[in-house]
Amino acid sequence: MSDFDYDLFVIGAGSGGVRASRIAASHGARVAVAEEHRVGGTCVIRGCVPKKLLVYGAHFAEDLHDARKFGWDVPECRFDWDVLRDNVLAEVDRLEGLYGQTLGNHKVEVFKTRATLVGPQKVRLADGTELTAERILIATGGWPHVPEFPGSEHAITSNEVFHLETLPKRIIIAGGGYIANEFAGIFNEFGSKVTIVNRGDTILRGYDEQIRDRLLQISMTKGIEFKFNAPFQSIEKNEDGTLTVMLEGCEPITADAVLVAAGRTPNTRGIGLEEVGVELDDHGAIKVGDDNQSSVPGIYAVGDVTNRIQLTPVAIREGQAFADTVFGGKPTVVDYTNVPSAVFSHPPIGAVGMTEAEARNKLGSIRVYTSDFRAMKNVLAGRNERALYKMIVNAATDQVVGLHMIGPDAPEILQAAAVAVKAGLTKADFDATVALHPSMAEELVLLK
Ligand code: NDP
Repeated sequence: MSDFDYDLFVIGAGSGGVRASRIAASHGARVAVAEEHRVGGTCVIRGCVPKKLLVYGAHFAEDLHDARKFGWDVPECRFDWDVLRDNVLAEVDRLEGLYGQTLGNHKVEVFKTRATLVGPQKVRLADGTELTAERILIATGGWPHVPEFPGSEHAITSNEVFHLETLPKRIIIAGGGYIANEFAGIFNEFGSKVTIVNRGDTILRGYDEQIRDRLLQISMTKGIEFKFNAPFQSIEKNEDGTLTVMLEGCEPITADAVLVAAGRTPNTRGIGLEEVGVELDDHGAIKVGDDNQSSVPGIYAVGDVTNRIQLTPVAIREGQAFADTVFGGKPTVVDYTNVPSAVFSHPPIGAVGMTEAEARNKLGSIRVYTSDFRAMKNVLAGRNERALYKMIVNAATDQVVGLHMIGPDAPEILQAAAVAVKAGLTKADFDATVALHPSMAEELVLLK
């Protein structure tokens, strides 16, 4: 029996923390986890999961409209935000319960309170209780970054957007990344007037340029307005409760809500990290090695708090690798190459591997194949919205090094195709695969 209260104390019960706790416990460790908000973390409580449900809800707007072209007699439909919001929040409650149950089933002790480090092997709970652990894992995730400007307190972030009392008739979204584009699509489908305001002239930095351009073009056709090179100066609250946003180089805009989606900051403040000597990088993220260990032996970190790739499945892999390495006798290093990603915009984007620009820089000689087509369903519906698939091939080896797609179900198709890219398959391998007809995915094996 060790002298410590626990073998592992985890701070943060989000995707990374829950996986690490559960796997460490299944390897026989005595584990406790502290969570000051809700078990499940950003993804389950105020991120991926409720967002995806809103995306599904938003899609009905177009589906109900298009259904008429497919012979359905659809009466005038009215969208009720309160119903969807409450159903989504109820589902989040259910999932939170399941996460708690999973931890309980694995005999992980859960403290629903804030915990801070007071030593390399000691934590303090909010009520002052001090507990010792041989190892400590920081999995506190990230928090929306709200740039400082007068009136910024009137803006909401992705934390609050799921709880809006009423659907805003007009909404201004600051930022041009994942959250901005996903919520622009959601609110636009619900009938809100959406304006995206971006400090630069690029949306979705990091994605392939042609795919980004296609999303911009389709979003504008759907009625989303974009203001580029227009940093926020201030927000003023008007007597009627509306908000007026002052922008650099643009006329002021008035709306019912302002959503700031300007990136996320690692949650490292005020939890005793610096006091015990844990090194942070310039963005405030915990610096860790391949083994997820920080600069202080015995203190580890996984997930968004380390700012490697801010994606749930990556945090889960890191949590699993940590637990297998430290408690399971199975040293595991996470492979960060060819991590697929998606943007659940309208239409959605899926991508894996190098963009065309990256491949040109890194490999020099590449071949690029594209398929620019209108999905069969969109043709009959009279929807003039084109999908774009793009394959990047290393000319020297014929290996497929990047796949980029925008169109209906792109993330679903891309996840399967990412296996081929991860496995290092060649364009010839794609060509040798018989098409599955009629499908959109068949375009991937018919690229000329
Ligand atoms: P992103 O990093 O995607 O985008 C941030 C946007 O805000 C960029 O357009 C950026 O501009 C802009 N920005 C950054 N700093 C400022 C500033 N000080 N003032 C004004 N604008 C600024 O962040 P999000 O908030 O959209 O999402 C956070 C993270 O959550 C994502 O990076 C992603 O990892 C994760 N996420 C993943 C999703 C998915 O997998 N589908 C969905 C939602 C979130 P610029 O380009 O000029 O830097």
